[in-house]
Order: sequence, then structure tokens, then C-alpha cells
Amino acid sequence: MTTITLVRGDITRESADAIVNAANSSLLGGGGVDGAIHRRGGPAILEECRELRAGHLGKGLATGLAVATTAGVLEARWVIHTVGPVHSTTEDRSELLASCYRESLRVADELGARTVAFPAISTGVYRWPMGDAARIAVTAVREADTEVEEVRFVLFDDRAHAAFAAQLG
Ligand code: ADP
Repeated sequence: MTTITLVRGDITRESADAIVNAANSSLLGGGGVDGAIHRRGGPAILEECRELRAGHLGKGLATGLAVATTAGVLEARWVIHTVGPVHSTTEDRSELLASCYRESLRVADELGARTVAFPAISTGVYRWPMGDAARIAVTAVREADTEVEEVRFVLFDDRAHAAFAAQLG
């Protein structure tokens, strides 16, 4: 049974077995959560991302998939990088967004992580409307078949927190 918790704050300050990064397919850093994780986590994370790119992820990580690295000096054992879809008004990419949560939890299970902190994937630069993103995220986690005991959504502002709270209500 997975417990879902909500906190408002900066995900790089969280303590958890794994912290999920809203990465981009290059795995080589970006803005938003991605930039913050690399800044606070230190260079070891990027180093391992580069190794992944030099190895089996030569073309980068596809949208909806997830991969783990060290968490550097963050208060976590692993960062799980997942690539959210860019929101589209002409194409329904909800399955890809749900897949980010499912695949991250699958990787967490492989690692043996029991507590996992997620940001609101795709709701920043990738422009997914917050309410819809919250619905997809909470549904995907509720329906996931996982050994993870706590999924903690770490929401950056009150609006995001309210959107997720409405889904749990
Ligand atoms: P994406 O490219 O998937 O849209 P972003 O990192 O741009 O990812 O944004 C995803 C969400 O994370 C946004 O709602 C943004 O406000 C939020 N966010 C940005 N920085 C942090 C942080 N340090 N901790 C938690 N959430 C964050």
C-alpha cells in the first residue's frame, strides 16, 4: 500500500530514498527542477548522466521513460530522471505523462527505494495545465503496482499544492 503525501517546497531540500528529476531527453541539465537538482546535488550527477549518454543512452532518454543516477550530495540515495512530454493542445500526451510516474516507480522498485519524492512533472517549461497534471499524476501513482511505501509530491507553490490536494481530497 503506497501512501501519498503532499508538501510545498523545494524538492532539492527533501530527504527521501529517491528524488525524481523532471529532466529533458539530453540528461545534460536544464532549467527548473533539473537545474536546481544539478546545482545543489553537485557534479557527480551530471558526470553519471554523461556516462549514460556515452553508453546505452547514446540518443538520450525517451519521453515517458526513467533512469537512475547517484544523488550526489542531496539527502537521497538516488535521483531518478524522467522526461515529461511537452503539453500539446492538438495531441493527447496524457499516457506519456502517466508513464513518467509509472516508470519512475518501476526504477524505484528495482533500486529498492521505499520513499520517493516527485515534482509536478511537465508543469513548468513543458506547460502542462496544473489541474490536469495533478489528476494524471495522482491517478498513475494510485494505480501503480509498486513496493514504494511513500510517494511524496513536492509542490513549488500554493497553486500547485492546491491542485494536488484537490485530487487527493
Ligand atoms: P518540465 O520541463 O517538466 O515542465 P520544470 O522543472 O520546468 O519541468 O517544472 C516542473 C514543475 O516543478 C513546475 O511546476 C515548477 O514550478 C516546479 N519546480 C521548479 N523548481 C522546483 C524545485 N526546486 N522543487 C520543486 N518543484 C520545482
